[in-house]
Amino acid sequence: MSKADYYEVLGVNRNASDQELKSAYRKLALKYHPDRNPGDHASEEKFKEASEAYQVLCDGDKRAAYDRFGHAGVGAAGAGGPFGGGFAGGVDIGDIFGDLFGEMFNMGGGAGGRGSRQQRGDDLRFDLSIEFEGSIFGTETEVKIRRLEPCGTCNGRGSASGRGPSICSHCQGRGQIRYQQGFFSVARTCSSCGGTGTTISDPCQTCRGETRVSKELKLNVKVPPGVEDGTRIRYAGEGDAGRSNGPRGDLYVVLAVQPHDFFERDGHDLRCVVPISFPQAALGADIEIQGVDGPVALKVPEGTQSGKEIRVRGRGVPVLNSKGQGDLVVKVVVQVPRKLSRQQREVVNKLSEMLSVENKPTSPSLLEKMKDLFN
Ligand code: ZN
Repeated sequence: MSKADYYEVLGVNRNASDQELKSAYRKLALKYHPDRNPGDHASEEKFKEASEAYQVLCDGDKRAAYDRFGHAGVGAAGAGGPFGGGFAGGVDIGDIFGDLFGEMFNMGGGAGGRGSRQQRGDDLRFDLSIEFEGSIFGTETEVKIRRLEPCGTCNGRGSASGRGPSICSHCQGRGQIRYQQGFFSVARTCSSCGGTGTTISDPCQTCRGETRVSKELKLNVKVPPGVEDGTRIRYAGEGDAGRSNGPRGDLYVVLAVQPHDFFERDGHDLRCVVPISFPQAALGADIEIQGVDGPVALKVPEGTQSGKEIRVRGRGVPVLNSKGQGDLVVKVVVQVPRKLSRQQREVVNKLSEMLSVENKPTSPSLLEKMKDLFN
């Protein structure tokens, strides 16, 4: 039987670069890989053919030999040929194409060899809602979480007798089963032991051999000052226990900060709006407002306009895991009375007259602006 030309198999020309070869092979391998076409013999043949072609052409020496002598030059059947010996003796596809396959197929233990029963536990996420003040000063709270703990009955060994796991009889402890596919042997994860190479013949009654059980427990969570909405705190080693006493995963506490009625966060600054009266704005005033961290003395300068922001240094949010603190930014809004008594009306009227007399001749800037508007 005559073999197909390797270049034709891969669909590339004879001058193809290594990159072109690789990408051509990648396409074919993806299309025809046995894992993707279970039971399809034609696909398997195509895969085998492409793999063989690529394995020869991606190796400079073998490619040169193939270019000179054809199939005979690379000893395709394992007989004769300059590369006959080790080359044809069933090569583990995972070893040769490790990087390629690692990224194309999630082959798990199939390509990587024997696994271990020990496994790192999963990371856990816990969503914690905290009050606004807690995000600023820090807070401490007890949370209830459910996580996997090592089984107390078997001490995380999984077997009732305490003997622990024994060698998997299906794969003889290798963790994988090899299939000979002509030129190659393809390794698959052993389904009996899940690639671990061992099985538990007398599973623990409590955990059914899983080695872990789900438990609810209380955990003290310390929230540092200065966190914000969405801050993630990692607690190393507080996640699920690992299988077979493997290392624990981590716990991530994700914070949701409740909004405040009065304050709003802006980076490290706190913002709030404070109403002041017209006299306070006009004459200036020393007022006291309630900050998150206690009373704040606020100096409203004479002639303050509505909407002006007054910055109080160092009364904002502490910088997380560091020194320093943001500012408190107070926006003052001049309140206009909704209703006036007769007496008040008289006073305001009087003030109005005085202001218009006072302002008319001495407000060139306003006149200037008006001109600008109408021109
Ligand atoms: Zn157990």
